[in-house]
Amino acid sequence: MDHYGGEIMPEKRKKNLNTTPLQINKQHRKTSRDFHFRSDGIKIVGKETDMQECKECRRILPTTAFTTKSFREDGAYTLQKACRECKTTLYKEQRESRKNASPKPERCERCHKKVEKLQIDHLHGTFTFRGWLCRECNTGIGSLGDNLEGVLQAAVYLENDKNKIIEILDKVYNEVFARTA
Ligand SMILES: [Zn+2]
Ligand SMILES: [Zn+2]
Repeated sequence: MDHYGGEIMPEKRKKNLNTTPLQINKQHRKTSRDFHFRSDGIKIVGKETDMQECKECRRILPTTAFTTKSFREDGAYTLQKACRECKTTLYKEQRESRKNASPKPERCERCHKKVEKLQIDHLHGTFTFRGWLCRECNTGIGSLGDNLEGVLQAAVYLENDKNKIIEILDKVYNEVFARTA
């Protein structure tokens, strides 16, 4: 007996692993008339002629260059922000960096919260394992550019006094090493 109670999964469901529950909100209602059908029969958000910028390679590509993410109220799928090609590269990087990962700790290496599901963080564009993070920290650091420069730009935005930043950095640095010692 398998997960599906011995039933053979319909071909379409096997191909598409999107199981995100429906999220109904105002924005979805407003845009729910805006969709088209792709040649494989999948209902996609937006017009067939729409172009989208890949957040990784920055190329402007047709919607067919992106895989689906989750679906909205009217059953139309939203698309991933990174193109198929970049996603494939990213998955490969994640797979390879997993091989070099240190044993999974109990706590997130950034916020130090005890989380059951920690994610592997790797250095973008490489197979280098960087650490274990909770989902929030992984997404947060990623949103800030996934590098020190981006994180520091946010620091300067929050506090424009450089000496104050250095003072807080000293404090944070000591705290982090005090707890890992
Ligand atoms: Zn791309
Ligand atoms: Zn965390």
